[in-house]
Amino acid sequence: MNDLIIKQGKLINDQIVDILVRDSKIVAIGSDAAKGQQATKTIDLKGELYISAGWIDAHTHCYPESPIYFDEPDLAGASCGVTTLVDAGSVGADDIDHFFAITRKVKTNVYSLLNIAKTGIIAQNELADMQQIDEASLQKAIDDHPDFVVGIKARMSKSVVGENGITPLVKAKAMQKKSGLPLMVHIGNNPPNLDDIADLLTKGDIITHCFNGKPNRILDDNGNLKPSIQRALARGVILDVGHGGESFSFKVAEQAMRIGTYPDIISSDIYHKNRINGPVYSLAFVMTKFLCMGFSIQQIIDCVTKKAADLLHLQGKGYLDIGMDADFTIFDLKEERTQLSDAEGEVRYGSHKFVPVVAIVGGKEIISTESESEYAIDL
Ligand SMILES: [Zn+2]
Repeated sequence: MNDLIIKQGKLINDQIVDILVRDSKIVAIGSDAAKGQQATKTIDLKGELYISAGWIDAHTHCYPESPIYFDEPDLAGASCGVTTLVDAGSVGADDIDHFFAITRKVKTNVYSLLNIAKTGIIAQNELADMQQIDEASLQKAIDDHPDFVVGIKARMSKSVVGENGITPLVKAKAMQKKSGLPLMVHIGNNPPNLDDIADLLTKGDIITHCFNGKPNRILDDNGNLKPSIQRALARGVILDVGHGGESFSFKVAEQAMRIGTYPDIISSDIYHKNRINGPVYSLAFVMTKFLCMGFSIQQIIDCVTKKAADLLHLQGKGYLDIGMDADFTIFDLKEERTQLSDAEGEVRYGSHKFVPVVAIVGGKEIISTESESEYAIDL
């Protein structure tokens, strides 16, 4: 007996499929996969709503007890159609056990990029004191939570590192070498200089806030990629959007895409304040900005599913394939003129928007978004 059958879901290529779920995994997918099958629960999308692998937001802040960047995982996640959140450094070694315990009780899947500062972000300047980087406690946190800590995070901007310049990143790279985990680096204001940061990064490292409009932007004054960024990308360094309240510029993103530089991962940098007051609101809203800039639906969905899963090594996530975790996002692409603001006050208008309708986590948790009532799905 199957646990769940999703009938008549529409893929991005407009193919209509049924999906069968057993023991939290996808066991069949195809145009008539549900034929003659029974399940404890059936959801019929009637060929009208899209279904993709569950969306992954690879840069969020969802530690509810953070004094600055706090949010509830299910409000930033499943209620926004996002089945997996990756918290980007809200928590360091000091609080990782507590964060892990909290996330076991929520519906949304949560992973952590462990802050190299042991306190995480309890103040804005967590790397201004090098004593904050304690190798032994970081290693213990990684060893204690092998399926939860999927990488490490270093915020490399002036307000965070104080007088320490590039030194915290040198230390982070040395520690990363031992763990083999991906390293996400935040860029923004200088010092440290972007060239010094980029030159230290190696294949698989992630630059977040890649389209920020601050001094450490990836473009030079002529709108070309800075040479250090060109070299980093050639080595296999990854670009992540990490929109946030201050870190996304339409002008930078549009020019980057004009010269052929696209994000690998689209993430929101969501937390309670920018979720409620904007300019983030949700991962879907950030995805809509890329739709408005001419990125294709398939490219956008890839950035929040398989690419995010591959680049952060999230096992079982990101693909609508047999054997993968039964995480799904059901959504619509609604024709509606939508005002979109970046973090610099620039405004664009989109003709269509992503509307998440339902998130399904592990084939069991079925979570409606606030738009669900507009759609006549029998849940
Ligand atoms: Zn962040």
